[in-house]
Amino acid sequence: MNQIYNFSAGPAVLPKEVLQQARDEMLDWHDSGMSVMEMSHRGKEFMAIAEKTESDFRELVGVPKNYKILFLQGGATSQFSMVPMNLLRGKKTADYINTGQWSTKAIEEANRYCTVNVAASSEDANFTYVPTQDKWRLNQEAAYIHYTSNETIGGVEFHWIPEIDPQNNTPLVVDMSSDILSRPLDVTRFGLIYAGAQKNLGPAGLTLVIVREDLLGIPIVDTPTLYNYQVHAKNDSMYNTPPTYAMYITGLVFSWLKKKGGLATMERINITKANLLYDLLDSTDFYHCPVAKSDRSRMNVPFTLRNPALDEEFLKQAKISGLIQLKGHRSVGGMRASIYNAMPIEGVAKLAAFMKEFASQHV
Ligand SMILES: *Cc1c(COP(=O)(O)O)cnc(C)c1O
Repeated sequence: MNQIYNFSAGPAVLPKEVLQQARDEMLDWHDSGMSVMEMSHRGKEFMAIAEKTESDFRELVGVPKNYKILFLQGGATSQFSMVPMNLLRGKKTADYINTGQWSTKAIEEANRYCTVNVAASSEDANFTYVPTQDKWRLNQEAAYIHYTSNETIGGVEFHWIPEIDPQNNTPLVVDMSSDILSRPLDVTRFGLIYAGAQKNLGPAGLTLVIVREDLLGIPIVDTPTLYNYQVHAKNDSMYNTPPTYAMYITGLVFSWLKKKGGLATMERINITKANLLYDLLDSTDFYHCPVAKSDRSRMNVPFTLRNPALDEEFLKQAKISGLIQLKGHRSVGGMRASIYNAMPIEGVAKLAAFMKEFASQHV
């Protein structure tokens, strides 16, 4: 089989070493006589997998003891409702920063539970930048401040963590679905972090939540049991059956990241990878990247061809070269190259070389 590089935005590429290990352990995990898929989630084998997955994550990131790590289902979309249901804590309003389609969805859902104050938005420029914090109009009464650290569709990323007024100490909540573990992370700056696994962590089906303990325990009236963070926290994410196989694969990804040198190393590699593409995009009129330079995502690189009549030919030739899933999101068109942790630098270099060659052949 030819080497294929998969630039899908999600579900996305996984490290080859992880898939190979999963293959080797598929039918019989560690002489247990069982596949991980066949194990009781309360049996000692799976408990060992779950504990290692959590402790490796704590070690990789440096998660303080007063934060719970929850292994949930429902995707990041479920968090759009779980966050207001659990974190309003009697308050009637929350601050949201709107930097694109995922922020917009989070806002729409939160509006069902509270009055959303959109404290800043980049809608005026078609969501191509991050509003600097001096432009934010935060509400002193807000229960929390929510933002999306990386807009997976628009390719707009925060390269900074918002500062919180120490007097008010409003918890910062972040949807980190597509850039978690792409760089070191200071958990102490946040009240709650959430991420669907299928971008940068593992397979679809697992949703990771990291939440400061003191925020738990005051959900809105009639919150369904499974939407109550505290129920999951008290039961080590085993109130009901967690997504066991997705947790196992994600655990293998954490071990892989540790072996690669951890998050500081990943950040260095991710910067190098992103620069390969952005430098090329900026060096020619053939392509165009709409995102403000300071806010360009290291994970999702959206771009258009000046001549959209060439889009189909571009995708066809790319595929022949082993470069797949480059078509942009249906809502924006053009192209998008997602280059998460698991995308090797060789794949990005090959894409950049292909793009250069394609441009020179179609002037
Ligand atoms: C993919 C994505 C979501 C939605 O995730 P689901 O798992 O499909 O619910 C939400 N936010 C961001 C930033 C995403 O990239």
